[in-house]
Amino acid sequence: MRIKIATVGEIVLRTRARPLTTEEIRSTATRGLIEHMKETLRDAPGVGLAAPQIGTPLQLAVIEDRAEYQTSFSEAELAERERRPIPFHVIVNPGIHLLSQPEVNFFEGCLSLPGFSAIVPRSRQVVVKCLNEEGAPVRIEAEGWYARILQHEIDHLHGTLYIDRMLSRSFCSLDHYNRYWKAKPIQESLSELTHHDEHGGPDI
Ligand code: ZN
Repeated sequence: MRIKIATVGEIVLRTRARPLTTEEIRSTATRGLIEHMKETLRDAPGVGLAAPQIGTPLQLAVIEDRAEYQTSFSEAELAERERRPIPFHVIVNPGIHLLSQPEVNFFEGCLSLPGFSAIVPRSRQVVVKCLNEEGAPVRIEAEGWYARILQHEIDHLHGTLYIDRMLSRSFCSLDHYNRYWKAKPIQESLSELTHHDEHGGPDI
């Protein structure tokens, strides 16, 4: 069953999610929740879905970046993004440690802001300590696109959306992203988008 995904403006997306107890993680209800989230993620399709996005303010997210999602990118684009397939997995009650400054820029989207995209600076490398769907502790070391996904999903668990971190001048509809920026190297898009005339008078 596909669950409706909450879109920007829903209060639940701005709520701090509650951690789960080990008993809750292993419960039938949570297993059901994970199954629904997996189906919803694949149906969307997306590479990550946090429980608040389906109206459940719990610290749980599912992640999966399938090889078939990456076929629209060239080898060079995948290499630039350090994007590789990531198997389906669940993160519960995650803590995240950024190993570098958020200075890697790429366009990013969110299932809760359908039809839009923006450049979001993210850390290249992170360490996440969390529990898996069995309630067992897991330590994840991630870099590149996977690190970006983790930062995005864990932000959701704190009521934060990419629009809180984006370079606001880069915010655009997906149509315009495809038209103007998709085929351009990110540095070129960045310099075009962030350039503005600081000395010019108001042009009203
Ligand atoms: Zn999102």
